[in-house]
Amino acid sequence: MERSMWFLDQKDMPTKWYNIQADLPEPLPPVLHPGTGKPITPNDLAPLFPMGLIMQEVSQERWIEIPDEVLEVYRTWRPTVLYRARRLEKALDTPAKIFYKYEGTNQAGSHKPNTAVAQAYYNKVEGIKRITTETGAGQWGSALAFAGALFDIEIKVYMVRISYDQKPYRRIAMEVWGANCVPSPSTDTKAGRDMLAKWPDCPGSLGLAISEAVEDAVSRDDTHYSLGSVLNHVLLHQTIIGEETRKQMEMADAYPDIIVGCIGGGSNFAGQFLPWIRDKISGKSPNMRIICVEPESCPTVTKGLYAYDFGDMSGLTPLLKMYTLGHTFVPPPIHAGGLRYHGMAPIICHLHKLGLIEAQAVPQTAVFEAGIKFARTEGIISAPEPCHDLKVAIDEALKCKEEGKSKTILIAHSGHGHFDLASYNAYLQGKLIDYAYPEEEVRKAQIELPKVA
Ligand SMILES: *Cc1c(COP(=O)(O)O)cnc(C)c1O
Repeated sequence: MERSMWFLDQKDMPTKWYNIQADLPEPLPPVLHPGTGKPITPNDLAPLFPMGLIMQEVSQERWIEIPDEVLEVYRTWRPTVLYRARRLEKALDTPAKIFYKYEGTNQAGSHKPNTAVAQAYYNKVEGIKRITTETGAGQWGSALAFAGALFDIEIKVYMVRISYDQKPYRRIAMEVWGANCVPSPSTDTKAGRDMLAKWPDCPGSLGLAISEAVEDAVSRDDTHYSLGSVLNHVLLHQTIIGEETRKQMEMADAYPDIIVGCIGGGSNFAGQFLPWIRDKISGKSPNMRIICVEPESCPTVTKGLYAYDFGDMSGLTPLLKMYTLGHTFVPPPIHAGGLRYHGMAPIICHLHKLGLIEAQAVPQTAVFEAGIKFARTEGIISAPEPCHDLKVAIDEALKCKEEGKSKTILIAHSGHGHFDLASYNAYLQGKLIDYAYPEEEVRKAQIELPKVA
């Protein structure tokens, strides 16, 4: 029998998250206070996050115990399945072995509940009644709305205006789970009102929506803020994906030569590759390739500057050392494929600087073409974000065919595209065009970077 799925029993589900900070060859650059320019302290972050998450943000412990209450919710959909893409392999006529770990089977349809549930739990334990957040395409807002429902926490979501208009079903899903969702820029915050005064039709950006959510959170004692990607604790929570995959690849008697995934803020892919990169750091698997894929229209790692920058548009957040397109970045509205954040997880940027991972930018029409190929072979209609990984995985599999090599490719598949059919429709009707973000725009943004001593 040719097996195509590997199930992990619930009793074998990992019970610890893996913290890469314990194994980094060099420590991460410090996070700086936006006012003083000095490294921030846990207390500086206390108005925004519960102490449980702040301590995870800075922890140097290799393994962090997952609380029972979080495991109990994880068990409503985890462990997720590892698949072998046999039909895609046949269609490509490649000797490569293609595996994918699929995170689209939970209640919200992406990897994001892995951290949403954990974040809701730690806030609940510390008595928080309300959480604010931002969302782009709506995946993160849905995941937090779902988690808020389970832990009885009120959720307020600032959704980037253009997605709010283009993706009403994500908003409705959030409302079904009990969250309140408003378009950003909104009239509910100063950051939103200032932008509307300057630019009434502003399509919004993640950076601006973060400003609104942070401003709202610090103005109330019962409210915290939550971020769905980028930060160390978010990447930590996602490592359950890679820890499960390690066990499943062992069951499949396979080991990846290439791991490929998409990066918006970096959380889903880090969740898959961090548990493997320790083999590369330790020298056990020095030639393993880890490929981060981003859109040409938002080329943070491939074209951005490695510098300290704000996480939001108004400059309210701490300064993170990361690749950035500048915190004033507003993505082009013609872009359909998600992954639109101006910055990137400091852990991903640091590993890229150290030469441990690589990055590629791809144009959106090729991304959708790959998504369609996958749907017509494996059947899954993927979110546009993981279609970026599919494009590069297919390229690598075809290279294997040319070279007559049977490499093992592992795809980090982050979620389904059932709410993204309008983007597929635009592609099928020939309405999507490719657009590469110009180099000079990146240089312009450099002028607005915060000055750091
Ligand atoms: C949010 C999202 C992403 C991008 O965020 P990361 O933090 O880079 O993972 C990718 N895929 C899906 C399905 C998403 O919802």
